Amino acid sequence: MPFASLGLDARLLDAVRSLGWDKPTPIQLDAVPPGLAGRDVLACAATGSGKTAAFLLPILQRLLDGKGGRVRALVLTPTRELAAQIDEHRRALVGRTGLTGAAVYGGVGMGPQETALRRGVDVVVATPGRLLDHLQHPYTKFDGLEVLVLDEADRMLDMGFLPDVRRILARLPKGLQVLLFSATLPPEIVRLAAELQSSPVRIALERKSQPATGVTQTVWPVAQELKTHLLLALLESGELENALVFTRTKHRANRVADWLAKRGVNAARIHGNRSQSQRTEALDGFKKGRYKVLVATDVAARGIDIEALPHVVNFDVPAQPDDYIHRVGRTARAEREGDAWTFFSPQEEGDLRAIERAVGRAIPRRQLAGFDYTKRSEEKLEIPLGDRIAAIRSRKAEDRKRAAEKAARRTAPRPAAPARPKAPARTQARPAGARRGERVARPAEAPRHEVHHRDERSHRPGPGSATHPTHRPAVDRLPWWLRRDA
Ligand code: AMP
Repeated sequence: MPFASLGLDARLLDAVRSLGWDKPTPIQLDAVPPGLAGRDVLACAATGSGKTAAFLLPILQRLLDGKGGRVRALVLTPTRELAAQIDEHRRALVGRTGLTGAAVYGGVGMGPQETALRRGVDVVVATPGRLLDHLQHPYTKFDGLEVLVLDEADRMLDMGFLPDVRRILARLPKGLQVLLFSATLPPEIVRLAAELQSSPVRIALERKSQPATGVTQTVWPVAQELKTHLLLALLESGELENALVFTRTKHRANRVADWLAKRGVNAARIHGNRSQSQRTEALDGFKKGRYKVLVATDVAARGIDIEALPHVVNFDVPAQPDDYIHRVGRTARAEREGDAWTFFSPQEEGDLRAIERAVGRAIPRRQLAGFDYTKRSEEKLEIPLGDRIAAIRSRKAEDRKRAAEKAARRTAPRPAAPARPKAPARTQARPAGARRGERVARPAEAPRHEVHHRDERSHRPGPGSATHPTHRPAVDRLPWWLRRDA
């Protein structure tokens, strides 16, 4: 069925055409008509299904009627990357309609976002945390709001954003059209939907979350310490041209990217410890081909949208089948074709089995011809947890010891200044004018402890000095059990 049959405005159809989309994806076919009719929609849609346009198109059509100058649609989404990506879709789809919008997310300045909120753009795409920051100010007004989208609702739940989302909901008017999109429907999301929606049209709820059909899944068995070598060998053999590579931790993402870079592969990384500008640069560089490999962690992966990405490599087997589906959804988007490869070491057998159960079949294994699977590698991508804990413990013990010594020094009696042996002449500072080798006498005018207590700036005796009015004899400052008369 062509887009034209959905009943969209000619300007929106033009925009869709200019994106090169010939026909709606299944989720668009299901969700656009009820969205256009003003119905609430509850949709189970995996990433890569075309869900963004499935909610944006009906929203934009609705906003064509009516007055601007206030925020009329709000899209809440879990990550900055997703927010940026949805806003990019929004910009592409508005075409000549003149509808306005803004993305509101953390890691960048509040100023331009504030300006957009003050002006009242038509569509705001926001992450919950940053939107709450803006909601503290009177310039953020949602009294003209008509449509609310909760995108990747299950991920917002996983990331602990549900309380923030509820705080935002409390500030929105009642009676909104609510479109809720989620890859899975855990009970909390079902409850939230029941609170927010009235008789929603339910879409694909019975469909199990599965990677898109165009994805070829392959498992590459390899020893843990040879994973980087296998990745390099695949790149060098031409089997892999460019790839989005997922690692389990930020640490590993850094190490894999560094390891590849040292061997001449242009690799960038994207994870939660990177600043927004670093993430944008990495993603942009990868999209434009400056980087052959983009190494990412799951959280960062949620919002990555790269057209025609041929390869996704799971450097580590994901611990959750759901994460596997999402990672793999990065390739073969919108019914294109792609490869999802998973590096699998014997230690990860349990996780792989869970994934195979979830996708309902055994994933074929492959080996790279000519690769030495038996070679030894001393490389460790991360310091083992036990060693890390031991290092932290020993650092803390050191700190405690130093603190105890300091406390003891503070409370210990100050020894009477011993007769100081004369320092050898060569270790003393030479006053101006003295010649090299000349013996210099230490000034004899003040005993060392009194110099120490002097108020250096005024040259008056400081507190603690024997001649200062607040002076107490040293014995008074001893803890009581050390005083002779205790
Ligand atoms: P989404 O699931 O919304 O993240 O979209 C996944 C990708 O599919 C994005 O790169 C979209 O640009 C693309 N896309 C969305 N709808 C269509 C369509 N009808 N035809 C072709 N590509 C599409």
